[in-house]
Formats: sequence, C-alpha cells, structure tokens
Amino acid sequence: SSLSKLQETVVKKEEPDNAGLIVTKNTLMWFRTDLRLQDNTALHAASIRAKVGNSFLVGLYIISPEEWRDHDEAPVKIDFWMRNLHCLRESLEKLAIPLVIKTAIHKDDIPGIVQSVVEDMYISHVFWNAELLVDERKRDASVKKALLARSNVQVEECDDQCIVPPADVRTKTGNPYAVFTPFYNTWCKLVDSEPHYLELSQTPERNPPEIRTTFAQYFDQNPPSSYPHTLDINNMKELYPAGESQAHRRLDSFIKNKASRYQEGRDIPQLEGTSVLSPYLAAGVISARQCVAAARTANKGKLTTGDEGLKTWIKEVGWREFYRHIVVAFPRVSKSHAFQPKTETVEWSDNEEHFQRWCQGKTGFPIVDAGMRQLNSIGYMHNRLRMITACFLVKDLLINWQQGEKYFMSQLIDGDLPSNNGGWQWSASTGTDAQPYFRVFNPLLQSQRFDAKGDFIRRWVPELKSLNDKQIHNPHGVLSPKEFAKLRYPKPIVDHASAKAKYIAEFKRVLALA
Ligand code: FAD
Repeated sequence: SSLSKLQETVVKKEEPDNAGLIVTKNTLMWFRTDLRLQDNTALHAASIRAKVGNSFLVGLYIISPEEWRDHDEAPVKIDFWMRNLHCLRESLEKLAIPLVIKTAIHKDDIPGIVQSVVEDMYISHVFWNAELLVDERKRDASVKKALLARSNVQVEECDDQCIVPPADVRTKTGNPYAVFTPFYNTWCKLVDSEPHYLELSQTPERNPPEIRTTFAQYFDQNPPSSYPHTLDINNMKELYPAGESQAHRRLDSFIKNKASRYQEGRDIPQLEGTSVLSPYLAAGVISARQCVAAARTANKGKLTTGDEGLKTWIKEVGWREFYRHIVVAFPRVSKSHAFQPKTETVEWSDNEEHFQRWCQGKTGFPIVDAGMRQLNSIGYMHNRLRMITACFLVKDLLINWQQGEKYFMSQLIDGDLPSNNGGWQWSASTGTDAQPYFRVFNPLLQSQRFDAKGDFIRRWVPELKSLNDKQIHNPHGVLSPKEFAKLRYPKPIVDHASAKAKYIAEFKRVLALA
C-alpha cells in the first residue's frame, strides 16, 4: 500500500543513524485564514491527535499569490498577513512546532505541495479549518482527494469560521435564513442554550524535544516578514501591530474603555468608537468566538439584554456571522451575482472618469472624499463612511456595485469577501435585507449628522481645513465662486437630486420588469 511505501521511504531516508526513530505518524496543521494559536479548532484537534499518537505536530502555510490576485487582495492586507505569519511562526516555535512555509506559483500546485510536505515530514494526519468560499472549498476538496488517493493519510476538516456552523442555523422549514433579524434571534437562542458554541479551544501542547533534531532545517526557516505596498509602512505597523497578543490587547481595551459607549460612538467616525478588530478577524488572528465570549462575559453572561453598547457590538459580530452563512447557502453571491437576481438588469453607467474620481476621493462631496481618502491612506474605512461612499457610487453615480466591491477589496486591510459583499449588496439594495432602493443617502445630510463639526473631513481633506463647521459640508454650495476656486477642491461631479431621481427611475424600471 502507499502507506507502507511511505514507511519504506522514511526508513530509507533515515538509515542508518535514526532508523526506527521516525515512523509515518506525524500530524500536520495547515493554516490558512486562522493565523492564531489560541482558540483554533483544527490546531487544537491536531495537537490532541499528535499527543495521542505520540508523534510530532507540524504546521504548514502556503503562500499563494495567484489566489491573492483572484480575490483582488490589497497589498496592505497581504503585508499584514505576512507580519502575522511571522508572529505565528515565533509562537509556534516556542512550543517546538515548526511552521513549514511553501510558495505555490500556481494555485493548482497546492495539492502537490501539501502532498510533498506530507511525504517529507512523515505525516499520517492532516488537519485544517474548513473555508467558506467556493474556490477554496474546491481547492481543499482536491487536496483531500490527492492525499487520500496517494498516501492514505487521514484528513480532518474542522468548523471554525463561524461561531455557529451554517448547517446549524435553520428556519422552521429547514432552510437557511435570508433575512438578518430572524437569523440573529435563532443564532442567539442557539448560543445561549448550547454552551459549546462559545467554548474556546486550548492552545496546542509542546512537541517532544527530539523534533528539533529531526526537522532542524524548518526551525531556521523564515517567512517573508513584509510584503511591498505603497502606504506608509511605519504608520501601518503602528496602526495595526501584528500578533495575537496585540489583537487581544485591542479587544480588552475596547471592552474596558469603549464598548459601553459603542451605541453612540460607532456612528461618529471622528470618535473612533469602534474596536478596529476587523483586520485581525479577517486574518483569523483572533476568533469571533473569543470576541463574543469576552463581550458576553463583560455583559454578565447576556447576549441580547444588558449593556446597550455590548449587546449592540455583539450584534455587529452577528452581522459578520450572517454574511458568512449567506455565502455558504447562496454561493452565487461570491461569484459576482446579486442576491436578488431581478436587480441584475440595471443599466449601469460606464463613466470611467466618475469611477476614478470616486476611487481617488475627488468627487467634490467632502464626506465621500474623506471616506475614500481614509481608505486610500490607511487601508481602513469607518463603517458609516463605507455605507455613505458605497451608496454614493451606486445611487449617485449609478456605477455597478461590483466595481466598488472590487476596489474596496483591493485597498482594505480587513478585506473579507462575505462582509464586503454583504455590505455592498446592502448599500446597493440588491442584497438580503438590503435597504430599500428608494432610500438614497443624501451626502450633505449624512455629513452634517455624523461629522457635525467637520473634524473628520478636515483630517482627510486638507484642502478644506480652513472652512468652518457650516461651510465644510458643502463648500461649493455656500462659498462664492472666487472663494471656492481658492480651495483647489473639485466641484461636485453630479447634482445629488437629479442623480437620485435618475437612479430611482432605473431601479423602478428594473423591478417592474421582474
Ligand atoms: P466594530 O464596530 O468594532 O465591530 C466588530 C466586528 O464586527 C468587526 O470587526 C466586524 O468583524 C464585525 N462587523 C461590524 N459591522 C459589520 C457589518 N456591517 N457587516 C459585517 N460585519 C460587521 N467588514 C469587514 O470586516 N471586511 C470588509 O471587507 C468589509 N467591507 C464592507 C463594505 C461595505 C460597503 C460596508 C457597508 C461594510 C463593510 N464591512 C466590512 C463591515 C464593517 O464596515 C466593518 O466590519 C467595520 O467597519 C470594521 O470596523 P471595526 O472592527 O472597528 O468594527
């Protein structure tokens, strides 16, 4: 059998010195979007299996640029992942667990790469956390097939990406939910009634010391510690320091200092009242379970009652869960399809100049430009601004939401397909419980309401720094032409009222056809 062939190879490789020391029984943990030691379901399971089998636990990470390109991943996000990978390797090394780093030039090479690691390191069991997206699931299925066919190894896929696995949250008729509120009610009931959903896994155990001599070369191996991007590298390291301990520091500090005021603070970008845990959650440096468990403990064991801020924050993590369940139940959304197919015949504008102005934050609408420039400068945008800028692209510029989704992905440090797609489809009125098509944010009113003093605009649009609280939201509308010209700030690229009317008419036309 292939197993005995592998054992023969092992013995051959190790003879004469170590013959008999190594047998094919080691355990491999393949890390992907779960760059953490704590509360990592597959890693925990792999560690138990290694201990029971009296064998070594080994980690694997495959750098896969083609997959990054497929997902339009932002260089700044890849850099953050590489920095975290470095930290992960260091933490694993403290437990004498080597992290093997391989690069797949083509994504189709991945099954072969896993296979070769399995052979080189005498692996009998491979563990990973199941992914949610179509392409990743296909990839994993082919790796599994290759492993089972060629070396007779056992593969264990664990549920880790959602607090409650998608198959467990079902309507009374056994279907997946397509609307948030009933989903969230059921989800909360499950989490409250079945404690195992929020049970955290333990960190892995130390490997036996002989592993250092056996796999010495893998202990000196370093993953790339950065990835080239065009933003201010020092600033990025300061804003988003890598590592699990940093993520936990952020979670603890948010819960202690900001959570109880989250209800008010989360909508005012200038207040920075949110956790900014999204980059860490997207890379799996911290789990959503750890976040909800910590918030629930702070809220005296409650999910839906108690402190307004904490319960609202838990609910936001619930949105993250919801969009994850949606991509599993309706995989077409992750393949550039609207959740509501009837909205797919909208005649979008192909005005490239408008799109470029939106990307660059030069629309002449200060609040929109502030949001886009925040994104372009620090790879992150506040949620309120994501909604405003997304709505503006779709409903004022009548540009396909998929262009915006792609652009966000290419810039965001927290780019996450389910949440990004969900957020865009919500904003574009094409999604699950999207806002109704006739609700179109007025950028001026949004600006006056959520950045009343204009501080956020002043921070990101320096041309407008000198304007007072009244002028800053609509400089073109309130200043004389001469004063406006001095600012060197663009005129609004559309008239909001007529753009809104045009968009509503188009959406009505499409819905009437459906
Ligand atoms: P907090 O307010 O502290 O919330 C805690 C966590 O809950 C977040 O880290 C996030 O994981 C989750 N969360 C909060 N709000 C939402 C939401 N509306 N939908 C889903 N999850 C949520 N989030 C991403 O993580 N990646 C994306 O690529 C992304 N793209 C978006 C695109 C659009 C158009 C919109 C409207 C929203 C998008 N979001 C995305 C959701 C949300 O804007 C961010 O999660 C949030 O701004 C992150 O900041 P935070 O960590 O401080 O959030």
